[in-house]
Amino acid sequence: MSILRIENCSISYDEDKYAVEQVSLDVEEGEIVSIVGESGSGKTTLIRGVMGLLPSGGQISGGKIWFKDRELTAMTEAELQAIRGKLMAMIFQDPGLSLDPVNRIESQYRESIRTHNKRLSRDTCRDMAKKMLKAMHLTDADRVLRSYPIELSGGMKQRVGIAMGMTARPLLLLADEPTSALDVTIQAQVVREMKELRDTYGTSIVLVTHNMGVASYLSDKIGVMNQGRLVEYGTRGEVIFHPKEAYTRSLLDAVPKLGGKRYGE
Ligand code: ADP
Ligand code: MG
Repeated sequence: MSILRIENCSISYDEDKYAVEQVSLDVEEGEIVSIVGESGSGKTTLIRGVMGLLPSGGQISGGKIWFKDRELTAMTEAELQAIRGKLMAMIFQDPGLSLDPVNRIESQYRESIRTHNKRLSRDTCRDMAKKMLKAMHLTDADRVLRSYPIELSGGMKQRVGIAMGMTARPLLLLADEPTSALDVTIQAQVVREMKELRDTYGTSIVLVTHNMGVASYLSDKIGVMNQGRLVEYGTRGEVIFHPKEAYTRSLLDAVPKLGGKRYGE
């Protein structure tokens, strides 16, 4: 069974213009699917729609979204809340913004764990946090937990954000440009770590990125969005080596070559 199934989904912010138009796609268990497209193509709107977290004015105006056998688009806000953070989690682009600057990481981490499990002790929360921080290669987890966000680098903050999202072991992780604010070398590390998370926990990941290079590095499937439409969707090999659309080819041509090679082949 698919973990996520989007059927003919349209999302609009005002009556006569679609930000997302008739998008259909499937994400299987343990699969990494990248959604690639230029700024304004509707990527953020699509995954916010999946989470039921559209900004005010945004609404799903057509189609259905399924999480396993449950229809998200038919759920009440309370039902969605019970799923959000626990079965599916979202990671945002700016790692600083989702962290509170005046609280140490440990208390924020504990608060996030307790949203879905109020009775866990401080020690249990700390152990859970340390385990996931280590999975994200933050080896000095004790120091990270004692720190305020300002004491951590951008890459470390994003790893903390991903670790927090992963602690409840969601089945689906939706990541909106999680590496775009980071330096290129750190980007590559974080992307590699996300892939490891999938390998370890079997989490399905939807990665939104404007960077075809990032998508080609870690995806099983790639979707290309242009002006609200999913213009191409297929396996990594199909999209990279046999793209159907000229638009996809133009995104591929924009990927810089590394040492004469493009996609690590
Ligand atoms: P992307 O993430 O690919 O850059 P977005 O989903 O942010 O694209 O935007 C898709 C379209 O929706 C754009 O035309 C954008 O102007 C519009 N849009 C995004 N957010 C809002 C909002 N809060 N209110 C009105 N329009 C929005
Ligand atoms: Mg966006």
